Amino acid sequence: MRLSNYFLPVLKETPADATIASHRFMLRAGMVKQDSAGIYIWLPLGFKVLQKIEQIVREEQNKAGAVEMLMPTIQSANHWKETGRYDAYGPEMLRITDRGDRELLYGPTNEDMITDMFRSYVRSYKDLPQMLYHSQWKFRDERRPRFGVMRGREFLMKDAYSFDIDPAAARVSYYKQFVAYLNTYARMGLQAVPMKADTGPIGGDLSHEFLILAETGESEVFCHKDLVDMPPPGYLDTDEAREAVFKERTSLYAATDEMHDADEFAKVPADKQLSARGIEVGHIFYFGDKYSAPMNAQVQGPDGKNHNIMMGSYGVGVSRLVGGIIEACHDENGIIWPKSVAPFGAGIINLRKGDEAVDAACEDIYAKLSAANIDPLYDDKDDRGGQKFARMDLIGLPYQIVVGPRGLKEGKVEVKTRASGEKQDMTIEAAINFITGEFAE
Ligand code: ATP
Ligand code: MG
Repeated sequence: MRLSNYFLPVLKETPADATIASHRFMLRAGMVKQDSAGIYIWLPLGFKVLQKIEQIVREEQNKAGAVEMLMPTIQSANHWKETGRYDAYGPEMLRITDRGDRELLYGPTNEDMITDMFRSYVRSYKDLPQMLYHSQWKFRDERRPRFGVMRGREFLMKDAYSFDIDPAAARVSYYKQFVAYLNTYARMGLQAVPMKADTGPIGGDLSHEFLILAETGESEVFCHKDLVDMPPPGYLDTDEAREAVFKERTSLYAATDEMHDADEFAKVPADKQLSARGIEVGHIFYFGDKYSAPMNAQVQGPDGKNHNIMMGSYGVGVSRLVGGIIEACHDENGIIWPKSVAPFGAGIINLRKGDEAVDAACEDIYAKLSAANIDPLYDDKDDRGGQKFARMDLIGLPYQIVVGPRGLKEGKVEVKTRASGEKQDMTIEAAINFITGEFAE
């Protein structure tokens, strides 16, 4: 992409209402624009990152055996009346009436709808297990939308749903998602810690929130330090292996404020006790027949009798993650994107537009990086060098290639690694090899 053709409305001033780094940088880097409280326009740069995150989530869901679909944003109130949630949900739900006075709502989540869908097709245990998911916009009329996209009113969530014949089978589905979540966040350069969450009236041990640690996080968390250093499990192909990962992680103390048990935490060796703040980037939940019972969603079991379908749901805050990643990856000059979610792989800075040799070198680099699928952003604008450097640091592409007349006379360009700040002079060929090599890892 040539910057002269792109829409990148970068702001010089820090917007006054943006109190945390991710919010500030997302506004300044022209990633989002607030349209009304908690509702954002995703500008091209922000939308690209959002799609990369969504794609990683999708790939890991597919690996876990979940099947993608799409449910609508607008739902009939009928499903929610059947489960009793229409009244229970409260003012966070945006209720709508259509021209025929039918009650609709903008979905804050999809358990009720998918349970209704599922029961209308599936009759036998032979059709189970099933795991379905979609990424769809949700609306929750949050009391205090804040921190930009981190607590929006309209936000993108991946939500998956599992359907099993009994609680034992449902555990197997839960472990699949548990492992998939660890791998999903790791691919985005994040260490997300699964923490015990409230299971409500169902009880048991199958509800976890995944939090990334960040000073600006809304939740207070307490956990065993080792959880913060554990590598992701990678792809596992047996139920036993997934269960082992679940047991390993959940044997160590980790809880948010609401679930915190000071006596249990005191049993963690003192040098391993970590209390910090965190951002909730996912929540997985086994809820048994909470929805299938009131909706009469049953299948015939091997015993010939009807059984309520045992369900779980698994949410990832896709749009919140854009902010969450920035909270974890930035410095005073701007964002530092992990390679896997960077909106462009590298930036090319032309320091002397109009200089024939510099222009030609930039075009050459642009063509070669494009051919190597690095998806470069070429700053071909007429701005001053200082402005170009600041803008490139702000938007946080992993690598920058700076092309100026002086270096070029010696056949060199400068390659800067955004994360370390390290700069190296090299030939164009070496620069291309270096960057493509970094992405091949
Ligand atoms: P929170 O406790 O942060 O309000 P929640 O428990 O209500 O979240 P879930 O219903 O578990 O959220 O939704 C799944 C995921 O969706 C959350 O883990 C979070 O990452 C994301 N999410 C929830 N509410 C919002 C919001 N208002 N804006 C952005 N993302 C959100
Ligand atoms: Mg939650």
